[in-house]
Amino acid sequence: MNSNFIPRGGGILLCLLLCLILAGIPGDSAPFSTISRSLLAQGTDMETELVTLKGSSPGPSLVVVGGLHGDETAGWEAADRLKHTARIKAGTLYILSPANVYGAKHDVRYTAENWDLNRLFPGNPQGDPSEQLAAELWALIEREQPVLVVDLHEALPEQKNWDYLGSSIIVTKMDGIEDLVDTILSDTAAGTLCSEPYNFYGPGMPGSINRTVSEKLNLSTLTIETFRGYPLERRVGDHLALIHFILNWYGMEEKEGPR
Ligand SMILES: [Zn+2]
Repeated sequence: MNSNFIPRGGGILLCLLLCLILAGIPGDSAPFSTISRSLLAQGTDMETELVTLKGSSPGPSLVVVGGLHGDETAGWEAADRLKHTARIKAGTLYILSPANVYGAKHDVRYTAENWDLNRLFPGNPQGDPSEQLAAELWALIEREQPVLVVDLHEALPEQKNWDYLGSSIIVTKMDGIEDLVDTILSDTAAGTLCSEPYNFYGPGMPGSINRTVSEKLNLSTLTIETFRGYPLERRVGDHLALIHFILNWYGMEEKEGPR
C-alpha cells in the first residue's frame, strides 16, 4: 500500500468525524446545540417559525429577532443564517426570523394587516394576526426571561424618520449591559469588530420591542441597525459579527466553531 494513502484516508476519516461533531449529534452526548422548531401566529398570514437552539450545558436564554421590518433584509438574512451557524454550547438561543414573513416576502416594512410590527408591542392575543404574533413573541420573552433580546434592523440611506441612524446600536435600559455596550462601541471604533465604528442611540421608539420589553418587563434589549447604503454581504456580516460577539460575551457559543 502506498504510504501516502494512509494519512490521506485518515485525514478524510478525521474530517468526516469532525463534520459530524460540528453538525451536532442528537442525544445526551451532543457537544453543541440541539434544535427544535415551533410556529407563531400559526395558521394565519403572519405564521412564522421560531427556532430554538439548546446547548448541552446550562446557561442563559437569549432571543434574536430578525425582520420585524420586512424590507430590512440584512437583519432577517443574518438571523436566518444564524439558525445554521450558531454553535450553542450553553444556554438557549431563540431565533425568530423573518418575524414579518409577509414584509420579507414582499420587501415592505409593514405587515399583511398594514401594521408597523415594531410599534405593536406588547401585542394583543385577541387581535389580528400581526397583533397575535407580537403577543406570542412577547409571551415567549416574558416566560423565558432572556439575558438579552437582540433585535436586528437596517437604517435608511437618507434622513426620513427614526431609521436614519447609520450603523448603530440602540438601548433603552443600560442596567446590566453597560460593559457589553461599552465594549461593542470601543471594539467597533478600534476596528476589531464590524466594518466601521458604531453609533449609540436610545431609547427605542414607543411600541418597539426594544422600548416595551425594557420598560414593561425590565429586561435588557439591544437593537442593531446596519446602514442600507452598504452592500448586503457587508451588512449581514456586521449583524453576524455582533451576534456572535454577544453570544461569546455570555459564554453561550463555542468560540472555535465555524462561521
Ligand atoms: Zn427597522
